[in-house]
Amino acid sequence: GSVMEKVLQRRSLQLRNMQRAWQESPEGRRMLEFRKSLPSFKEKEMLLQAIAKNQVVVISGETGCGKTTQLPQYILESEIESGRGAFCSIICTQPRRISAMAVAERVSSERGEPLGESVGYKVRLEGMKGKNTHLLFCTSGILLRRLLSDRNLNGITHVFVDEIHERGMNEDFLLIVLKDMLPRRRDLRLILMSATLNAELFSSYFGGAPMIHIPGFTFPVTAHFLEDVLEMTGYKLTSFNQIDNYGQEKVWKTQKQLAPRKKKNQITALVEDALSNSSFESYSPRARDSLSCWSSDCVGFNLIEAVLCHICRKERPGAVLVFMTGWEDISCLKDQVKAHPLLGDPNRVLLLTCHGSMATSEQRLIFERPPRNVRKIVLATNMAEASITINDIVFVVDCGKAKETTYDALNNTPCLLPSWISKASARQRRGRAGRVQPGECYHLYPRCVYEAFADYQLPELLRTPLNSLCLQIKSLQIGSIGDFLSAALQSPEPLAVQNAVDFLKLIGALDENENLTNLGKFLSMLPVDPKLGKMLIMGAIFGCFDPVLTIVSGLSVRDPFLLPQDKKDLAGIAKSRFSAKDYSDHMALVRAYEGWKDSEREGSHGDASTDNRLSHNQSLVRAVICSGLFPGIASVVHRETSMSFKTMADGQVLLYANSVNARYQTIPYPWLVFGEKVKVNSVFIRDSTAVSDSILILFGGALSRGVQAGHLKMLDGYIDFFMDPNLSECYGNLKEELDKLIQK
Ligand code: ADP
Ligand code: MG
Repeated sequence: GSVMEKVLQRRSLQLRNMQRAWQESPEGRRMLEFRKSLPSFKEKEMLLQAIAKNQVVVISGETGCGKTTQLPQYILESEIESGRGAFCSIICTQPRRISAMAVAERVSSERGEPLGESVGYKVRLEGMKGKNTHLLFCTSGILLRRLLSDRNLNGITHVFVDEIHERGMNEDFLLIVLKDMLPRRRDLRLILMSATLNAELFSSYFGGAPMIHIPGFTFPVTAHFLEDVLEMTGYKLTSFNQIDNYGQEKVWKTQKQLAPRKKKNQITALVEDALSNSSFESYSPRARDSLSCWSSDCVGFNLIEAVLCHICRKERPGAVLVFMTGWEDISCLKDQVKAHPLLGDPNRVLLLTCHGSMATSEQRLIFERPPRNVRKIVLATNMAEASITINDIVFVVDCGKAKETTYDALNNTPCLLPSWISKASARQRRGRAGRVQPGECYHLYPRCVYEAFADYQLPELLRTPLNSLCLQIKSLQIGSIGDFLSAALQSPEPLAVQNAVDFLKLIGALDENENLTNLGKFLSMLPVDPKLGKMLIMGAIFGCFDPVLTIVSGLSVRDPFLLPQDKKDLAGIAKSRFSAKDYSDHMALVRAYEGWKDSEREGSHGDASTDNRLSHNQSLVRAVICSGLFPGIASVVHRETSMSFKTMADGQVLLYANSVNARYQTIPYPWLVFGEKVKVNSVFIRDSTAVSDSILILFGGALSRGVQAGHLKMLDGYIDFFMDPNLSECYGNLKEELDKLIQK
């Protein structure tokens, strides 16, 4: 003990010397000057004291005020300065990988160190940290995973949970676990950070923890609602009657002077459409429906275009940020704007996009200042709402929508629809315009629609399937799933929990009494969806690990097949070429990856390891895919000239247009297995693989129950029955693997 103590003391002194040397260097001083200009700096002493005195503190402050980069750093610096640096260990969670990495890099550069020294990061499958790392930025998922094996977070002195206002599922989950742990770790400090003012909710969850607000930073932003925007862009509002509750009247007429007739009609239709059928005060589902078609059609685009023209012609210099619902909308609008005589002129407008799947080179462009007299316009998803800050934005155009995933527990179906944002989001979007000078925000919806927005978005926990979450709860061994989730800030509905438990039982991760099976234990350790985890385990057991690993990797990230808007058809054809006669999106993935690998290593094949002895066996790989994706099954219904698909729960379902199976006239298999379905307007299934009756019987539910219960006898039949003689080869291996699995 005391030897260790001495080592740490010595290390602490080193840390202090290094920190002082940096702070006194010219570069360090310049950096310190910048940091002192951030609003959080004024509150530094107060914040440090509050954290020292209270186990839990809730801190709010607008995006950019210096919460993430400064607050954990203040703690680190003051511990180092007091000669205790080596004794502290600070964790700060981020909802997204990209921010965990970016912030860690920023903080280490603010400290004049390479990344991985006193400041590091850890995200899934990647990290930069060393034995001297005392401040670690990680995703909330990583901290949850750590809690699985280290229930009391031994050795950790401070935990920051950042961006809690987003109400991400992992953050809500973390708060339950941390709240339960605090009494056992009296010395641990928990700091919650939020970009909005709803701190009371979190404070009362932690028994009235003190709240500290870091006063603002942004300049005032003028809000223009649709009424003003129409006038401004030359559409004159001639009459507007507030609509009564019965929705009999719908009048909001506009006239566009000098505008082509068609355009005028479109705008009129837009507004009438928006205001038809319902009063917005009541904000009935019908109103929601009639509004939901709005931003993602060309009518909305014309309005956005008109606003952009207005800004370029009439407004002061400054970059423009346009919030749209998703990648499709962004690329459609981009095409439209590029064809515009003014907006499409590269000498006057620099048009950029900002969304989840953009290339890093493009990402960097967003932050750069454009040449003089060129106006930067960034078309963005709601990613630019809080997690990315573009400093020179002066104008914001807000379409009022975001693609939101919700979960319909009754039909056990995730839904993905553009829906109205919350008031908090609208405020946040507006705030992006006031970073460097007073700004303007154009909300493309009437003020009365804004008034009807919900205050905050529904927490993610209440709008996602809970399969993975419930598995993790079980592996934490903290009582029943129901009890655990009832301790959440807002609990999901019991039916959603029941669906998840049923699912876990069905795939063999939980037994009848809701206890984790051996399979379940394995699945909870793998950082992938339980379905995919099961596919991996089966791939290993059956000796075809590589193709299955490729599939699982492909499905764990965004679709690796990008279908560029303008070359959609060509891309589709190219993709289906990978699928040959497999009738499988998953096999297409494997072939695409292998094709790439082959071109890398120029044709030299040959993995003879036991894990891959049977990787060449197509039907086996197909069977393993089936074992993972069960119970996602649709039957293929052939009529005379057409083909349709049905599931037990949903009736008819449709295939995504980019599925290879959507390109065939007929599919010579009776079933499709799929991993994901989502309700857009109909229920769609994404990637699918066609399978035969025998595969479904053998590798659908029953086999997993065999694995779970260790009924090896039961498996004898499968192996014999299975048509491929190669299978007997893997049988010995299978038995061994299963024995191991069950003993563990
Ligand atoms: P908050 O967490 O409150 O939103 P941050 O701590 O992330 O704020 O950022 C504080 C300030 O630090 C920002 O306003 C910005 O000026 C600056 N900053 C943050 N990240 C970077 C970066 N990667 N490069 C340059 N400046 C940055
Ligand atoms: Mg932040």
